[in-house]
Amino acid sequence: MKSSKELTKILDLLKARYPAEPEFHQAVAEVLTSIWPFVRSNPKYQAARIVERLIEPERAILFRVAWMDRHGAVQVNRGYRVQMNSAIGPYKGGLRFHPTVTLGTLKFLAFEQVLKNALTTLPLGGAKGGSDFDPKGKSEEEVMRFCQAFMSELHRHLGDDVDVPGGDIGVGTREIGYLFGQYRRLTTEFSGSFTGKGLYWGGSRIREEATGYGLIYFVEEMLRTRGNSINKKVIAISGSGNVAQYAAERAIAVGAKVITLSDSDGFIHDPDGVNEEKLAFVKELKNIRRGRIKEFAQKFKCDYHPGKRPWGVKCQIALPCATQNELDGRDADSLLRHGCICVAEGANMPCTHDAISTFVDRRILFGPGKAANAGGVSVGGLEMTQNSMGLQWTRDDVDRRLREIMRAIHSQCVRFGEQKGFVNYVVGANIAGFRKVAEAMLEQGVV
Ligand code: NDP
Repeated sequence: MKSSKELTKILDLLKARYPAEPEFHQAVAEVLTSIWPFVRSNPKYQAARIVERLIEPERAILFRVAWMDRHGAVQVNRGYRVQMNSAIGPYKGGLRFHPTVTLGTLKFLAFEQVLKNALTTLPLGGAKGGSDFDPKGKSEEEVMRFCQAFMSELHRHLGDDVDVPGGDIGVGTREIGYLFGQYRRLTTEFSGSFTGKGLYWGGSRIREEATGYGLIYFVEEMLRTRGNSINKKVIAISGSGNVAQYAAERAIAVGAKVITLSDSDGFIHDPDGVNEEKLAFVKELKNIRRGRIKEFAQKFKCDYHPGKRPWGVKCQIALPCATQNELDGRDADSLLRHGCICVAEGANMPCTHDAISTFVDRRILFGPGKAANAGGVSVGGLEMTQNSMGLQWTRDDVDRRLREIMRAIHSQCVRFGEQKGFVNYVVGANIAGFRKVAEAMLEQGVV
């Protein structure tokens, strides 16, 4: 899509102002390029400088996290919370603990989160936070001590109606337990200011499953637009964490065959398909023993490809569910060569700009993360609703609402992304999310 001078100016200024944040530039460029014709056709957005305001966080908190490891040595990490936009609701977005975390990574994630949350139909603003702390190889006590030290600062910036974090890479139920415990101790109140909580202390059913299940519900909707279904399709999944595990679980339940999983060391290729028993092994391996995916190949006697990503295998559906920029233009070509008809992003920004252009140009079904992986934050929003009502809904109740939300997200993508018989989900998701936030910002004045 051709970009105008004004857009180039905005992107150049962003790069000059924040030169060390390439992932943030990438996410902003991708979104702004796709919505620019819409922005230009609505001069009120340009007059109020909505775009310029949208790409500047309302607040970014940076803090030191000092803690003592099991050898008695003092460790110093960096903590962050980027509160990007609260025009449509309190800040909401996960915490990521991974050594690669920087302010730029979190700004890209927070920016995406604003538009994603707007798509969910729920009143949620956007934020993201985390630390360069690496939970891998740490003892239980070290993880707990780190979480407590992290929360000792962050707690003053949170609250039910202020900012409600959840999980992301490296932050699962265990970490949320330690974070919430410290939050409760410091604030002396039990409130719903965290999502992803345990079921006995305010958590929602289906929250753990939500991103992966929601991804498959979205894929089913996309396939339906072409009179197709997921049953018997061969699926390549990357990652083996929360999103990958539950995407695989749901895909298997509806009759698809999942043939790959991965971690940061490599991927397994199991042409017979990962069944329920094998998936139970993966959950125990990754969530309890915290081992490496190559053990899967040893146990079930299939191929393991160290240092590689799974996009060279023959599949009809590809679901990148690990991390950003894990599927590039060459991977996209390879998937298309092997007959892939649908790609949906379980992770945030896993496909590079080149990969996305390839999928869109070839008119296959491509579901961008802000739509396809919005199930997690949606059930996070439903957890907040249950907390404020003092209720806990049944599994069926939450699952039904999750399906409805994924369907509504899909409809918005179709409404704003329809281009002469082809649904451009990237354009659809970006315009639908942007429009809602932009209208709220306009109505609330210059703040
Ligand atoms: P987990 O920590 O549970 O799992 C992450 C998986 O990705 C692991 O298999 C991990 O391998 C792999 N991975 C992480 N970093 C890299 C890397 N640099 N290169 C290759 N593989 C890597 O995280 P989640 O499943 O929660 O999150 C995965 C993605 O989904 C992220 O992009 C996240 O932002 C996104 N997401 C998550 C949501 C949620 O509800 N959890 C909601 C919406 C989006 P290893 O074990 O080796 O680190």
